[in-house]
Amino acid sequence: MLGHEGSGVVEAVGEGVTHVSAGDKVLLSFSSCGKCRSCRHGHPAYCVDFLSLNFDGRRPDGTTPIGSTTGEAIGGRFFGQSSFATYCVAHARSVVPVEAADEDELAMLAPVGCGIQTGVGAVLHELDPGSGDTVAIFGAGAVGLSAVMGAALTPAAKIIAIDIVPSRLELARELGATHTINGKEEDTVTRVAEITGGRGLTHALESSGVPALLRQAVDSLAVGDGMAAVVGAPPVGTDGTFDVNFLLNGRTIRGVTEGDSDVFDFIPELVGLYRAGRLPFDKMVRLYDPDQINEAATDAAEGRVLKPVLRL
Ligand code: ZN
Repeated sequence: MLGHEGSGVVEAVGEGVTHVSAGDKVLLSFSSCGKCRSCRHGHPAYCVDFLSLNFDGRRPDGTTPIGSTTGEAIGGRFFGQSSFATYCVAHARSVVPVEAADEDELAMLAPVGCGIQTGVGAVLHELDPGSGDTVAIFGAGAVGLSAVMGAALTPAAKIIAIDIVPSRLELARELGATHTINGKEEDTVTRVAEITGGRGLTHALESSGVPALLRQAVDSLAVGDGMAAVVGAPPVGTDGTFDVNFLLNGRTIRGVTEGDSDVFDFIPELVGLYRAGRLPFDKMVRLYDPDQINEAATDAAEGRVLKPVLRL
């Protein structure tokens, strides 16, 4: 059972769960073990058991939290939650209590649990641009636009959004991009060099998962301290290339999962920023009723909406 950016109200809690109780409004995010070195040091996205806890569909003991009416086991806890359902049994470490005025707002907050924290977190936790810096976001989908919003919260002087869809670039400007590049019409590396006065990017974020864009991001980095964060996930086994000599001059490429977020701190922080009007991700979310599911899928596929949310 799928579903990975859920929000809802707690119906009941299991034994030993103390951080939420029935009636609490919560967002659902990824799961982690809470015990390994990464988890203990506040980096649960780098949990040693991240893949098995989030994608195996079973608990570590092999059981699943859901079954058919005839008792057949059905895979659950996808991304710690399997929230494409009216009710779900989520892992405690996936459940984050949040403030929300009502159920409409709670539904709007759902994407914070993955896409939004991935983009904003990668900028704030990994890139952390300072004043005068230039950040470029490669790919202006939901994660890339979240990164644009994250960059807008920093003192960075220039924020460049790169995509091939004009409406996405327009939205990027609304969300804080100072420059946009349409990669279909312009040579991205040349344009970045123009925008940065030949210096190159202090910070780049690759969100598309397209190796050619990763190459452009790396080729655009400033000598000395240019850093590229990679969050886009291509199919397993995909290779990317860079010129080794180009990298030797102090440039860095770093992979980032889920914005390196500690969900219990960062998700409430993101919700607070949204409620204060400083993270206007509602501009890319549209809510749909269950009977509009086909419309939601078509709107997403044809680029009319970036983040469709189903209200079950
Ligand atoms: Zn862990």
